[in-house]
Amino acid sequence: MENSKEMRNWLDAFKLEHPFVIAGPCSAETEEQVLKIAHELKDSDVSVFRAGIWKPRTRPGGFEGVGEIGLKWLQKAKAETGLLMGTEVATAAHCKLALEHDIDVLWVGARTTANPFAVQEIADTLKGTDKIVLIKNPVNPDMALWLGGVERLYMAGIKNLGVIHRGFSTYQKTKYRNIPEWQIAIELQNKFPDLPLIIDPSHITGNREMILEVTQEALDLNYDGMIIETHTDPENAWSDAAQQVTPTVLKQIFKDLKVRKVSGDSDFENKMTKLRANIDVLDQNLLELLGKRMVVADEIGQVKKDNNVAVLQNTRWNEIQEKVIAAGAKNGLSEEFSVKLFKAIHQESIEHQEKVING
Ligand code: PEP
Ligand code: MN
Repeated sequence: MENSKEMRNWLDAFKLEHPFVIAGPCSAETEEQVLKIAHELKDSDVSVFRAGIWKPRTRPGGFEGVGEIGLKWLQKAKAETGLLMGTEVATAAHCKLALEHDIDVLWVGARTTANPFAVQEIADTLKGTDKIVLIKNPVNPDMALWLGGVERLYMAGIKNLGVIHRGFSTYQKTKYRNIPEWQIAIELQNKFPDLPLIIDPSHITGNREMILEVTQEALDLNYDGMIIETHTDPENAWSDAAQQVTPTVLKQIFKDLKVRKVSGDSDFENKMTKLRANIDVLDQNLLELLGKRMVVADEIGQVKKDNNVAVLQNTRWNEIQEKVIAAGAKNGLSEEFSVKLFKAIHQESIEHQEKVING
């Protein structure tokens, strides 16, 4: 698969003057709920109404979706509002039913993308379809697996493709439900700049308070659109209650988002914006890593305190210097820079330890 401008044809066909938006509830619950939300989303920036019909649940016993009957509700919502309809498919049977009910946008969920057999089954069933097929990143942070999913669909002659970035599971406790690992999506974007890239802030954050912030970050990185879980009664939603927003909040998010206009920009400016956005993400990663390093320094300070050992251990510091000069060189960094950088880091680390020992 090679990058080609044609990858964007389906998106360009919407002729939007704002980012592409998919919105709707995590799950279709009842016919009334589907119709109510769809009506509140028509005449807004939303192009596609989403609702999960089959819900992959981590543990059995939860709400697993209403199934086929929900597709009828989506058809009715489409007839009444003119919105396109989208849902998740995970098996050949889901794909067949979705096609039979003329669902416009099918997406492959994160758990499914992690399984090449399942993706291949979907690709075989959807072979040659002109429906829009979006592939979410796999649950594990593996760019090749994500790309492999796109390739399987592409090789099945599906031309209207896009990717959804929904973050990655982690055992660590973080402020996110699924950590974004922005650099993975950026790497995919660098390889396929014309493959539409959509942010799913709902599953990244897991809470409605952070939706705007994460969507803005994505737009700053030139994402093409967003998929945001939206429900008229989020607190009582049958799945993902904490992360859904109301249609009113969604419309406020549209107003608050700062959308850079791309058309009219010179090629130079476009390139610079993209590169600078990359730099910003990397800087953020550097700072987070340095913060983590200082947490470890604090722990070392505590161990030294408990054992009444001096903060500065010269042999250890000399060892570190040698190591970082060698590792720096491998990464294209000059010896002068590596030493300067690590002197500053070491100094900060000593100050942290001093505080632990004396404070
Ligand atoms: C969903 O979109 O509701 C969903 C189940 O998402 P994911 O595959 O990203 O977990
Ligand atoms: Mn959900």
